[in-house]
Amino acid sequence: MNLKELNPNQLEAVKSTGGPILIFAGAGSGKTRVLTYKIAYLIEEIGLPPENILAVTFTNKAAQEMKERITSLIKEDVSKMSIGTFHSICAGILRKNIHHLGYTNSFTIYDSSDSKTLVKNIIKKMNLDPKQFNPSSYQYMISSKKNLLLSPTEVSESAIGYIDEKLAEIYMHYQNELEENNALDFDDLLILPIKLFDKNLNALNYYRDKFKYILVDEYQDTNKPQFQFINMLSEIHRDICVVGDDDQSIYGWRGADVRNILEFSQQYPDSKIVKLEQNYRSTSNILNAAYSVVSKNQNRADKKLWTKNEEGSKIRLIECHDDRYEANQVLKYIYESDFAKSETVILYRTNAQSRVIEDVLRKNAVPYQIIGGVKFYERKEIKDILAYLRIAVNPMDNLSFERVVNFPPRGIGNTSINKIKDYMEKGELNYLDLTNTIDNLSIGAKQKNELRNFLIFIQSLNNNKNKSAIEVLLDIVNEIDLKNYYLNQPNIESHERWKNVEELILSIEEYSEQNQGKDLSDFLEEVSLLTDIDRYNQDYDSVTLMTLHSAKGLEYSLVFIVGLEEGLFPLTAYSSLDSDIDEERRLFYVGATRTMKQLVLSYANKRMRYGYESISSQRSRFVDELPKELLDTKQLYTSQYQTHSANKKYNIKVHSSFEIGDRVEHKVFGKGEVLKIEGSGDLEKIVIRFTGNTVKKLIKKYANLSRIN
Ligand code: ATP
Ligand code: MG
Repeated sequence: MNLKELNPNQLEAVKSTGGPILIFAGAGSGKTRVLTYKIAYLIEEIGLPPENILAVTFTNKAAQEMKERITSLIKEDVSKMSIGTFHSICAGILRKNIHHLGYTNSFTIYDSSDSKTLVKNIIKKMNLDPKQFNPSSYQYMISSKKNLLLSPTEVSESAIGYIDEKLAEIYMHYQNELEENNALDFDDLLILPIKLFDKNLNALNYYRDKFKYILVDEYQDTNKPQFQFINMLSEIHRDICVVGDDDQSIYGWRGADVRNILEFSQQYPDSKIVKLEQNYRSTSNILNAAYSVVSKNQNRADKKLWTKNEEGSKIRLIECHDDRYEANQVLKYIYESDFAKSETVILYRTNAQSRVIEDVLRKNAVPYQIIGGVKFYERKEIKDILAYLRIAVNPMDNLSFERVVNFPPRGIGNTSINKIKDYMEKGELNYLDLTNTIDNLSIGAKQKNELRNFLIFIQSLNNNKNKSAIEVLLDIVNEIDLKNYYLNQPNIESHERWKNVEELILSIEEYSEQNQGKDLSDFLEEVSLLTDIDRYNQDYDSVTLMTLHSAKGLEYSLVFIVGLEEGLFPLTAYSSLDSDIDEERRLFYVGATRTMKQLVLSYANKRMRYGYESISSQRSRFVDELPKELLDTKQLYTSQYQTHSANKKYNIKVHSSFEIGDRVEHKVFGKGEVLKIEGSGDLEKIVIRFTGNTVKKLIKKYANLSRIN
């Protein structure tokens, strides 16, 4: 293989095998490239079979790309190599071994909204006030405890005071329910392999022997369970290579622990450290700007980073009077620049910021892709079908059963559902156990009948284990007559839901074709572990919008970082802990170092929050941490209001009352048609279909609508 494409330090990192290695280096210095070459080197030069390699990447997409790159380097079949995210690698191990831990291998993976529903149900059942015991907060707290590998009993033992005790109790019920449903949440995926290895030495030895060489990218963002997992597998053979950059640690809020990388050489005293100091990605102006901000952090390991690349243009800084103007400035800049749209990314701190930018791009017919927002697999109509598929695989998944027992509506109302749930809980039954005991339920005859038919259908799904994913899906869609259910409803929303179901059908069809031999549970696993970025295609000629967090590892010629305002980026308040500000600063560093050629920063003096309230804002301290001589602050417009004059094309009058069928214009969503008006007074709501078929319900008082003639 051709190793000429590596510099001497990179080459050393690739060739050093036998013993632990830490590759510790700044952004764009070729860490990921080294990892890729190293795998190719291990296979081709050292002769290690691909199935003996475990490589962990931060996204499934990164894994896919790395795999393709390796194949192009050595033209060898690497399909047996284990490469993927921690979650997918762990799910694979559990699928084969989870019976040792009291689950069955048809377990369901609950996503974050499923977990939240579970927590919510528990809080309700415990008769606690959901205002005081907010399900999202408790979900977050439970997850934090799990990430510290603390069991409900341990949390209970160390509880001080009422709130702590309740947390322990909710956590305990939560964990019990997961187990009863034969379901795992995302945290369990990482924790259970550790439990398995603790409990079952054979399994541990098997994987120690299988994964003879272990490589981990983005090691600075590993959490405690991930650290432990890697450590258990590698502590005997010690053939482990981790790469990372402490300045890019941005997941502390989710339990990542930067000490894992900073203390690697204490953990492995026999380790070799390779530093990469040449950056290949960015111009020197960009590197200097990024460094000037991140170097304000106290707790960091200083690293050299230099580049042979040109100095490049200055960092463009744009001050805007409000967020709408900011979006227009971004648009204007995109028009003026020579970079391809596929080479352009707009980064922001919070998903909510995308709306106004999207609106401006859409109105001006600039193609864009947005990563994040409402994810396809989290849409209601998709989750409903997935719930059917889940119960077809896992007969213990009561949460999914509850979701669809009355969907599409079959006359089993909430009162009946609650009675069924009570009955199941008292007898510790699954829904399939109900088949024989239906007559004991105190629900109406019609409901019993419907429930019976539903159960017969579910049972038939369960009995058809050898059917492919697509066959099962079509059985379901036909049986519940889903198409007619949606298309017979006289609203666009339902028609769109059906369109999404069709998209799901297509994607399962494609999956079944491309993955011969994989079944429905493989499909469900893959879907549960998909992240937004995995559905992203950088080849399209479109601008990309995403949060700063999603941009990790990627690179673009033209990068915008918008919303550089105190309270937004940094997202924390002035009074916050230094460590929180430090993480925000690292996030800025990650964002800025995605840039190859041109970085554009912007902030607004006023910003709409929550759709109607305009809040004045102060520019981010990060802007002031940039050296003046690196900045270009000339404005793009002579008049700040130039773009707004576009509105003059229509004859706009502000009306206090609207009628169905009126054509209206909204500042953010653009033009639309009034479909419905509900309520009155302060709570009067107005349903509008906007261009692009998005239907929104807005509170009239705040919507600030204008009627267009
Ligand atoms: P990050 O910290 O952002 O994850 P990284 O350290 O992983 O970055 P890579 O993504 O591997 O860096 O490399 C950055 C860019 O530099 C890529 O476009 C890569 O192809 C290029 N590059 C790396 N090393 C070399 C080299 N020796 N010669 C030419 N280009 C290189
Ligand atoms: Mg990388």
